[in-house]
Amino acid sequence: MAQHLHTTVIIGGGFSGTVLAANLLRRPPSRAARIVLVERSAEPGRGVAYARRDYPCLLNVPVGRMSAEPDHPDAFLDFVRRWHPQVTAEDFVPRAWYGDYLRALLVACERVAPPRIRFEHMQGEAVDVLRGGSNLRVVLADGSALHADEVVLACGNPPPAQLPGLEAVRGHPRYVANGCAEGLGRHYQGTVLLIGTGLTMVDVAVAAAEHGDVVLRAISRHGLLPSGQTTAGGHGAGTEDLPARLGDVQTVRELLRSARNLADEQQQCGGDWRDVVTAIRDRAPKIWRGLGLVERQRFLRHLRPFWDIHRHRLPPQVHVRLAQLRESGHLHVHAGRIVEARPEGGRLLVSWRPRGAESAQVLGVDWIVNCTGPDYDLRRSHCPLFQSLLRNGLALADESGLGLKTAAHGALVDSAGHASRNLYCLGPLLRADHWESTAVAELRTHAEELAMHLAGLETRWPSHVGRLHPAGVSAAI
Ligand SMILES: Cc1cc2nc3c(=O)[nH]c(=O)nc-3n(C[C@H](O)[C@H](O)[C@H](O)COP(=O)(O)OP(=O)(O)OC[C@H]3O[C@@H](n4cnc5c(N)ncnc54)[C@H](O)[C@@H]3O)c2cc1C
Repeated sequence: MAQHLHTTVIIGGGFSGTVLAANLLRRPPSRAARIVLVERSAEPGRGVAYARRDYPCLLNVPVGRMSAEPDHPDAFLDFVRRWHPQVTAEDFVPRAWYGDYLRALLVACERVAPPRIRFEHMQGEAVDVLRGGSNLRVVLADGSALHADEVVLACGNPPPAQLPGLEAVRGHPRYVANGCAEGLGRHYQGTVLLIGTGLTMVDVAVAAAEHGDVVLRAISRHGLLPSGQTTAGGHGAGTEDLPARLGDVQTVRELLRSARNLADEQQQCGGDWRDVVTAIRDRAPKIWRGLGLVERQRFLRHLRPFWDIHRHRLPPQVHVRLAQLRESGHLHVHAGRIVEARPEGGRLLVSWRPRGAESAQVLGVDWIVNCTGPDYDLRRSHCPLFQSLLRNGLALADESGLGLKTAAHGALVDSAGHASRNLYCLGPLLRADHWESTAVAELRTHAEELAMHLAGLETRWPSHVGRLHPAGVSAAI
């Protein structure tokens, strides 16, 4: 009889799933084990963010802060420099390069894994996870199924919400329902309405202006645009004590007051307000958990758009390009709400109400692109996997609409309120518990900690253990 091999199934091969698999391969459990990475696309490693695209979008974070390995902070810089020796730690490079790095990291980790560890990439879509006793079964869209001793959901950001009032244009060839996944690389012509004014809108606007003769109109509730990064950015001198100086904040009002005071003090002594944002980010999980439901909901209602534009920033060159597009009249930014949209006479007619106005205005456009960003409220998800997990009680949606309820190590909390012992989540759906769970800085730590937990290693490894020489990663290409 074939020996049972302890099997870990990771659903989703973007950054989170790939880095988890890489960590498990280079610091594996002591028993024989099988690690299966189930990913829709043929190329694990890239996910949505680091895919190859017609338009070379830049990373929003400088090279020197994008290592996927917490114990090797220059790993990505070393990787890039093998092909582009002139690149410095402060540079912003194309996102696809980061996908190349993640793919190389995975291959390199496969090579150093001991023979008792079997790794497989399985192309397919997971549509269900079923529990039978302590075992799990992952069902794929083609009807096949995989036995699993443990499953990690690393499915990334959910698609944007289906916006009310846009029912009549849904399915229309010139309505793009997910700007992040489908909005780049299209050859837009005429007037393009971008709904949302965050990072996705900027990506789509800059690429559209490069490819076609367009007038862009971007609308969001507040009409706020993301701030720019500074080239030197992050953790300058005199910033080490900022997290402590934030104080013991218990309410949203205290958080706002403390953040404003610190930002003013930083600016007055020649510092940068961005360091205050970084300090809040470093303490985010603790602050978030301490706020409680009512305060969290207050934050989401009133502060979120302001936090987002300061926290999610643009590379300096993209920030400059955005200003040029506005000055040249190619991009107009409005604060307001979309009331409805419908096709008429070959165009799309959009009724929208400017912020503070009593009556709506009508705008004729040639394209509409939904750039509102991920909808983390899984109670309205159309994804079969999440629908089933919630229906069967294996997962519980967060009541504030921020992904899934989770416990230590990202263990899913079920409908009875119990933390699972073998079903985990990794990536942006951990927002309910961490708030900051979107970018590489947080996700690489979550991936490393979950890998150690799954491998039965509860303490942090010393930094020299399991570190890959950059040549190992580069040679894997
Ligand atoms: C456009 C963009 C740019 C970004 N730029 C930066 C940046 O510069 N710096 C930074 O730190 N962060 C950036 N981020 C944040 C980003 O969210 C994280 O860095 C990281 O890429 C998230 O990885 P993930 O694996 O959790 O999600 P994703 O990258 O979305 O990967 C999820 C993967 O799961 C697969 N999948 C989903 N469901 C299933 C299923 N049921 N079955 C099989 N496969 C499935 C998908 O195909 C996908 O490949 C960016 C995000 C976006 C969207």
